[in-house]
Amino acid sequence: MKAKEAKAKHSFSDCSYCGGAVRLREVEMDYRHQGKLYIFQKVPAGVCSQCGEKFLTSKVAKTIERKITAGNPWKRTVEVPIGVFREEAAV
Ligand SMILES: [Zn+2]
Repeated sequence: MKAKEAKAKHSFSDCSYCGGAVRLREVEMDYRHQGKLYIFQKVPAGVCSQCGEKFLTSKVAKTIERKITAGNPWKRTVEVPIGVFREEAAV
């Protein structure tokens, strides 16, 4: 983990939700674009050590958008089950 942190070009400010320390990690991000869900793995993102909130730099976010609009190459495609949460289920 130490080596990865040393390679970090960005330093993130503290978490805007809980004020925890934000560190650079490689994470899996889900990303919605025009009604479709995309999952990106090994995304360099700041992750809050307290609440786990993820923060992307604008450069990384733009790269993701570019990959989506370019349409390829996708490593694989998965089916995503969608459920509807109804209040009577929450007992
Ligand atoms: Zn936080």
